Amino acid sequence: MSLLLRIASANLATISWLRNRLNMLQPRPFRSTDAVPLASLVDVPAQELADRLPDSGYIHGHAATRYFGTLSMSRAQQRFARPQVCPECLHTTGYCRACWDFSCYTVCEEHMTAMVDRCASCQRRLTWNRPAIDVCICGAYIGSGDPLCTEKEAPALLISRRIAMAIGGERTISSASLERQESLPPWWSHVSLDGCLRILVAMGAIDRPLTAFKVAALQQAPSLSWKGIVERGLMRLQWAVAHPDDELKQLASVVWEGGLESIALDHVSHPDRQVAHLLTEAIFDHKFAGRFGSLRGQLSQRALF
Ligand SMILES: [Zn+2]
Ligand SMILES: [Zn+2]
Repeated sequence: MSLLLRIASANLATISWLRNRLNMLQPRPFRSTDAVPLASLVDVPAQELADRLPDSGYIHGHAATRYFGTLSMSRAQQRFARPQVCPECLHTTGYCRACWDFSCYTVCEEHMTAMVDRCASCQRRLTWNRPAIDVCICGAYIGSGDPLCTEKEAPALLISRRIAMAIGGERTISSASLERQESLPPWWSHVSLDGCLRILVAMGAIDRPLTAFKVAALQQAPSLSWKGIVERGLMRLQWAVAHPDDELKQLASVVWEGGLESIALDHVSHPDRQVAHLLTEAIFDHKFAGRFGSLRGQLSQRALF
């Protein structure tokens, strides 16, 4: 989307104009299937566009998305229609990074500032339909909202790095060293990116004990709320590592059981499912029935697309 917005604004056009030319009835983020008609409009090879746009498919009957080599089975994890930016990066480089499209990417690894999804001037949510890459639809430059934070104050940096590594290999910090540093669980580097992010959400989505949790609210949650989810999820995982298994039941009132169960049912990799099982059993003392057994495990090994 970033490339398309830059090309459109360089030609005094907008994302809406591109959508109209493609005869889209509803405004929606572009997908890889739009690459061929878009290619002739923006004069970029169709394959190059297809590689940069999300691709939809199915894993054993459940919707999944491939984006920059990662697979995701949770719509809330991606924010293709709800862009967020690091204003510092944007003003320096002039483009949006693909890792910003992940909801759990909540702190810029370069500038250690919180991501921004709202215009400080007009208070509206940012959209892709803006006049330029660093300008809000109201005409104001997208400004940085939050003060700089240090690494210690921003545990969410760890997750931003994991996302950036998974999609671009831009960072060279080894996951093994991060595990030691942050006392993360031993399974951390074995689960897929999708598994890691969904486990974080299951662990961190509930703010206070025994409060109701609405999945639909997750889809629309602002960047700041996602930062809270990521930080709580990490903190609770670290707490779980530091305590014996029989004490993990204390987490039952703040962990989203349905989130863990959904990973056990629909997962990108086998370790995702195993970890979801282990956590559910340890926290809720809930043994999964046989129907979650070997068949789904085998199916999950099949190639997607
Ligand atoms: Zn930045
Ligand atoms: Zn604005």
